[in-house]
Amino acid sequence: NHCEFYDKKIAQKRHEEKELMKLFEASLKNKDFQVYLQPKVPTDNKEVLQAEALVRWVHPEKGMIYPDKFIPLLEKYDRIGELDLYMFEAVCQIAERWLKEGRVGAGISVNLSRKPLLREGKEICEKYKRIKDKYNIPDGLIKLELTESALFDFSDIQTVQEILDGFHDIGLKLALDDFGFAYSSLALLGEFDIDVLKLDRAFFINDNERTPKIVESIIKLAHELGICVVAEGIEVEHQVETLTELNCDFIQGYYYSKPLPVAEFEAWRESYEKQRA
Ligand code: C2E
Ligand code: CA
Ligand code: CA
Repeated sequence: NHCEFYDKKIAQKRHEEKELMKLFEASLKNKDFQVYLQPKVPTDNKEVLQAEALVRWVHPEKGMIYPDKFIPLLEKYDRIGELDLYMFEAVCQIAERWLKEGRVGAGISVNLSRKPLLREGKEICEKYKRIKDKYNIPDGLIKLELTESALFDFSDIQTVQEILDGFHDIGLKLALDDFGFAYSSLALLGEFDIDVLKLDRAFFINDNERTPKIVESIIKLAHELGICVVAEGIEVEHQVETLTELNCDFIQGYYYSKPLPVAEFEAWRESYEKQRA
């Protein structure tokens, strides 16, 4: 019971979306989707460097396509679950290789969309377990990043907890992504069993004199609950200094490095390790 005006742009956008979705199928088979890794740098020298895997679509004709362009589309057409599993497998392959090279504890986190989670519920864990077992990934090494909206969309807390338990049972850790961007309910921390809290970039963009106080109390609360804290989108040195003072565990952001192709990440890590030694 509403009226909309037709605009050529709508048809054009639709057409572009459909074209991209057609390319998706072939690109998944051709492995045009690549893992880029962004360092998560520990503020404490004893911790091991971690990484977040971010997808890049490197199409043979269209060139590099960034997630903003296709993730919402894959969500809309309900194909994101396939890409998430593809990325998870790619990450397991990298982790397996690192382990063979003797790198213990160098964990990688990978994003998990809310749509397949909502549709499949805890059944989804089986698929992740099969891949994890295929590459002999030890428990606790790989984390899945979920946004709070993924958890809020469920009608009851018990279902969410069952899913989180399901992932824990198969040895995957869980990170709450983009905390501070939307609702950021502190109650969520007490309610759900998560391992890592990722403070969103939004905290640090318009920071004022009160921001450190808020961040400090979130970090304190998280630590009391045994949750590790990662700050993301950190671009400048004074933020690194403040976050280190506030006992934030890991820092991720352009200040250290943008997401890099795997070989470049490994080269970056080598110089980071030399510097730290
Ligand atoms: P996200 O998970 O919050 O990832 C962080 C995004 O912030 C990345 O953008 C990263 O490049 C960017 N970033 C990191 N440090 C900085 C910084 O210091 N400053 C600024 N301005 N930006 C920074 P990217 O790679 O374009 O990814 C965008 C979003 O796309 C991700 O946000 C995530 O929600 C989604 N995404 C990426 N890869 C995957 C994937 O494999 N699966 C799913 N489901 N979603 C993905
Ligand atoms: Ca993420
Ligand atoms: Ca994030």
